[in-house]
Amino acid sequence: MVRDMTTSSGDWDWSRLVSLLPSGILDQIVAVPPPNENFSTDTLGWRWNDNMDFSISSAYDFLMSNNLHPSDAVWKRIWTLEVSQRVRVFLWVTLHQRHLTNAERFRRHLAPSAVCSICSHAIEDIDHMLRHCSMARYLWPRVVPPSMLDEFLHRPFISWLRDNIFYQHSNRVLADDWNCRFAILCWLLWKDRCDNIFNSVDSNREGLLIRGNRLLDECVRAFETRSHSQPTILAHQRWSKPPLGWVKANVDASVEIEGGKAAVGGVFRDELGYWLGGFTRNIGCCSAFLAELWAVHDCLSRAWSLSYRRLVIETDCMEVIRLLKSPSTSRVGQSLITWILNWAQKDWQLVFRYVPRSLNRLADRLAALGRLSSREGITLPVPPTDLVSLVEEESESADPALLVAHNWGSAESVVYFNINV
Ligand SMILES: [Zn+2]
Repeated sequence: MVRDMTTSSGDWDWSRLVSLLPSGILDQIVAVPPPNENFSTDTLGWRWNDNMDFSISSAYDFLMSNNLHPSDAVWKRIWTLEVSQRVRVFLWVTLHQRHLTNAERFRRHLAPSAVCSICSHAIEDIDHMLRHCSMARYLWPRVVPPSMLDEFLHRPFISWLRDNIFYQHSNRVLADDWNCRFAILCWLLWKDRCDNIFNSVDSNREGLLIRGNRLLDECVRAFETRSHSQPTILAHQRWSKPPLGWVKANVDASVEIEGGKAAVGGVFRDELGYWLGGFTRNIGCCSAFLAELWAVHDCLSRAWSLSYRRLVIETDCMEVIRLLKSPSTSRVGQSLITWILNWAQKDWQLVFRYVPRSLNRLADRLAALGRLSSREGITLPVPPTDLVSLVEEESESADPALLVAHNWGSAESVVYFNINV
């Protein structure tokens, strides 16, 4: 039974689990609270809907989208790529596989056949157009290293798109910002194709070489002039100190977009902005939302054992605040929420507060560190060397503490426990 895999103190019995299960499964178990009689009973949930409720539309979306989940992070990622808006729109349509290729036109009875009019391949679909038609076969080997090319050209189409959009530079072969170059090249391939078909440009071998080189030049130009859409940090937003006698914790989670490896981190600071302690922990694999809940959970259990009895917790996840206000609205993370609420009911004063990401940078850095730590987590009595300057900067520029603890911000972004507001 699952309960046989827990220790007498209620934690997972890792000594047994480790010998029985592969590490990928263990990573997923770290993020699951062990069974506990205080939690509500287990229920079945529909994984293709965020709220775990079944709906026909989510089932349809799942079946139609070539296994790309409607809440997949790639849908949002497209719109933050530093490329022009027309390239983003192109990617969006591509992920939906709605371009009017011959395969699609044939399917809709708009064309006599699905054959590619450029290379006479039997099916001109979006995959053929972006990876296998003559221009694509000319372009990709010029930008993708030979060692990667085979995999690049033959992996499943949607995961090929997704992985290249999410490409991260860390110790890999391709250049920084490969995802932007990739997006621009895909769009240029489409543009060239439309030119070729509708404006009858030269499609012989010389024409292909000339156009291919021109596309590579255009890619470099488009790359250099791409739009910058980084959010600007408002100058007046600063970290603020807690009131006298209170401790402030900043917590955050960090989840790798590819693979979903998750970690949490947090820091406790006193009314002068001094570092009281930090923590960070690897929590295996889970969604960003569950990771944010784990961050709050870890913060509470540590704060309690450190005997802090007046605590402000700042998170940059608004959903956490909403759930603490009305816990019944979600089946996702229900056990964790129950666990957090059990902590909150103890004999101490708590304020949970939403802050924008720019005010939660220290916790963000600590959470990122956690990916390298163990599932037991580590305690940091002093700040890690590369965070010292950030700690000093935040405490020196901090806003003075608000005098009354029940005046922390707008009603929807703060939750109080054991405080008469
Ligand atoms: Zn073709």
